Amino acid sequence: MAEPILEIRNLKTGFVTESGIVKALDGVSITIEKGQVVCLVGESGSGKSVTSLNVMRLSDYDGGIVLEGEILFHGEDLVKKSQEDMRKIRGSKIAMIFQEPMNALNPVFTVGDQIAETLRLHKGMSKEEAQRKAVEMLRKVGIPEPEIRAKQYPHEMSGGMCQRVVIAMALVCRPELVIADEPTTALDVTVQAQILDLLRELQSELHTSILLITHDMGVAAEMADRIAVMYAGTIVEEGTVEEIFSQPHHPYTIGLLNSIPGFEGQRGTELYTIKGSIPSLANLPTGCRFHPRCPFATDKCRAEEPSLLEIGSGRRAACWYAEEVALKAKEQGAVIVSGKGE
Ligand code: SF4
Repeated sequence: MAEPILEIRNLKTGFVTESGIVKALDGVSITIEKGQVVCLVGESGSGKSVTSLNVMRLSDYDGGIVLEGEILFHGEDLVKKSQEDMRKIRGSKIAMIFQEPMNALNPVFTVGDQIAETLRLHKGMSKEEAQRKAVEMLRKVGIPEPEIRAKQYPHEMSGGMCQRVVIAMALVCRPELVIADEPTTALDVTVQAQILDLLRELQSELHTSILLITHDMGVAAEMADRIAVMYAGTIVEEGTVEEIFSQPHHPYTIGLLNSIPGFEGQRGTELYTIKGSIPSLANLPTGCRFHPRCPFATDKCRAEEPSLLEIGSGRRAACWYAEEVALKAKEQGAVIVSGKGE
């Protein structure tokens, strides 16, 4: 096993509100090794973005608190760091790419100045040196005429260009870990593909580790070395991209795979949807948190919560019937419309 860069261990978090603590994460554990791309997938509201904001400790600014667990970056627990320490880590060692590039860029500064400022802050470069490096980085992320573009403001650029600038800003200090939260969701399809290609290229050139957050299994297939599937604040399945796609063990993973347009398991032309919606952590169902939506649910599922257990080397699933689900998925080409409990 390569050296782990980030180890999130049994992370339980919440937000302090006027009516008490609202739970957000319920025992998340993820490991990212050097140079690895780990995709965190799941529907909106599953806790993916909260996980990333907890790693960056940005959730602190919205009343976020860690109730239990550790976030180890090179073995050092980020939970115990002060915000002053975190400011030194953010941008230089761990960088973040957000979904909306326009929100990540400051409208009153040129893009060149914004990239240069990151270098001056974290690397102590002179103004001239930082400006030169900023232009070089704009060239690296595929921006034509970078000397001219560096002098432009974000509103003078397209969404795709702005996301390239955000990527340049995130990578310019050569961070060891980049957290990319739905980096292509706000872009149109052709630009999405270009941005994913760019991220992959830069990742292999700079040997950066990436935690990529996406609701799109197609994006995960293209980018990930490993996939962690998240549901209602916890991880329900984890494995390599090949394992997850060739033999999913959790009915929720199967539902996500079936929802990919054109996925081989789909029947007919109608796009599959997972019935029902994700529960809030304040109102979790008894037993397995996925049982109200699971075609496989039994009385045992409704009464007892399954733990995330090893089902092979580096492979984990939280389902009482993981093996049977995997076999049935294989027989049916991943689609399970009715199962044990029906
Ligand atoms: S434990 Fe039961 S309800 Fe939960 S995912 Fe597995 S089969 Fe479905």
